[in-house]
Amino acid sequence: MKNIIFIAPPAAGKGTASALVCEKYNIPHISTGDLLRDEIANQTKLGVEIKDAMARGEFVSDEVITKLLKKRLSAKDAKKGYILDGYPRNIEQAHIYEDLLKSINKDLGIVIFFDIDKDLAMERTLSRIACPHCGTSYNLLVNELKPKLEGICDKCNSSLEIRSDDTPESFITRFDTYINKTQSLIDYYKEKNVLREIKVEKDLSAQDIFSKVEEIVNND
Ligand code: ZN
Repeated sequence: MKNIIFIAPPAAGKGTASALVCEKYNIPHISTGDLLRDEIANQTKLGVEIKDAMARGEFVSDEVITKLLKKRLSAKDAKKGYILDGYPRNIEQAHIYEDLLKSINKDLGIVIFFDIDKDLAMERTLSRIACPHCGTSYNLLVNELKPKLEGICDKCNSSLEIRSDDTPESFITRFDTYINKTQSLIDYYKEKNVLREIKVEKDLSAQDIFSKVEEIVNND
């Protein structure tokens, strides 16, 4: 198994696919967002510093993120591989990450980019709904994520409002921002010859995406 970085725009179906990959290969899913949240929840000294910085509206420094990441990647369960999600976000972090890997004797592995069309990503996002009662989320365009009975929550039988939190405008801004920020990173990894792409087509299910990831992992 390799170390894997996921680069995925909003609505590319990365969440379900990564859960399946982690389960199959028994590797952890590591996101810097979770690391920061855990550190805050555990009220460590660093966690308190992070919380204060965030309360002041400041960004968490690369130094802090690197520290947390180093600790997490060195853990026993990450020994045979992991999925890193949401990091690195730019070239600068990519360099920091490579230095970090060197310091703990790990390989970069591969980078999987989920290539999804903006229109399709928007369609998927706008068809996401949440149960107003228990918060369970559904996606009317994704077979595995549809409610079993149309308009009814599987978990609590409440009727589901067909309304997305996203508007087309807010989605487009979010998507474009993501692509603009990550394009140089994608190019960087392509040049390094570690980038693998999964084209997310309209009818691709989470299971299909998982199979594609599996294929990449097995062939690499
Ligand atoms: Zn419900």
